[in-house]
Amino acid sequence: MNADLHSHSSISDGCLEPAALVRRAHAHGVDLLALTDHDELDGLAEAAREAESLGMNFIPGVEISVSFLDDTTIHIVGLGIDPANAELAQGLARVRSGREERAQHMAAALEKCGIHDTLQGARRFARNPAMIGRAHFARYLVASGVMPDVNTVFEHYLARGKPGFVSHQWASLEDAVGWIRAAGGVAVVAHPSRYHRLSTAGLERLFDDFAAAGGEAVEVVAGAHTPEEMKRFATVARRRGLLASRGSDFHCEGESPVDLGRCHELPPDLTPVWTRLGY
Ligand code: AMP
Ligand code: MN
Ligand code: MN
Ligand code: MN
Repeated sequence: MNADLHSHSSISDGCLEPAALVRRAHAHGVDLLALTDHDELDGLAEAAREAESLGMNFIPGVEISVSFLDDTTIHIVGLGIDPANAELAQGLARVRSGREERAQHMAAALEKCGIHDTLQGARRFARNPAMIGRAHFARYLVASGVMPDVNTVFEHYLARGKPGFVSHQWASLEDAVGWIRAAGGVAVVAHPSRYHRLSTAGLERLFDDFAAAGGEAVEVVAGAHTPEEMKRFATVARRRGLLASRGSDFHCEGESPVDLGRCHELPPDLTPVWTRLGY
């Protein structure tokens, strides 16, 4: 089965409208797709309709921004959530609410670097104004010729420690996992190789606290993972008895390292998270 359980549409910081994302996944041979927009559920109905018309299995999802320990941002994916659940919807509305002010601070910081009018510029790339984020600023800086590509923008300006970075308070780990469970979903630690700020002990603590909150799965195969990192987190899944997920984290053609459905296979001895979701 070609399952891709991590993807983004223009409802957050992807480039394709939800229906177009679903069509692209289908064209790439995906049998089971989850749309997991950041902190937002608005694309799920359109995506589900399109998947149904194509006869493709679809899982409603979300990727929640979390602040963990010493201000480290981590991402928790929720799979199989009920988009109509009020607790999840209210929690996500709170997580989204600081983005506009953060964007204003980011624009002011970039202004100090001599890069002008980035808020208006980023807004042109954010179809959903409530979800304006770093990717939209990055795309504007590329489009206006300041930087050659999105990765370079992050390297020079938007990654933590760079002059355009603005720290932000997201959800707590316990709240994020709790909302996902309240909505009937399965919580997944997204792309664990990306949390370079966490020490080895910090990463263990993340998995401890995640399991204690009721989290059940880890992304073993992720767009950002090298084969070595897949092996490393396959070992974590075995040792901790976690279900294994697989997702490209596709955002945009020409920007995302892995396209929809083009991920490595999960190691065969692991239990895929989709078995827990009825597939
Ligand atoms: P935000 O939620 O506004 O902090 O934006 C986070 C998003 O920025 C991630 O979900 C990615 O889509 C994107 N991103 C983060 N780091 C990088 C990077 N180094 N290169 C390209 N995109 C990145
Ligand atoms: Mn993103
Ligand atoms: Mn993420
Ligand atoms: Mn993602």
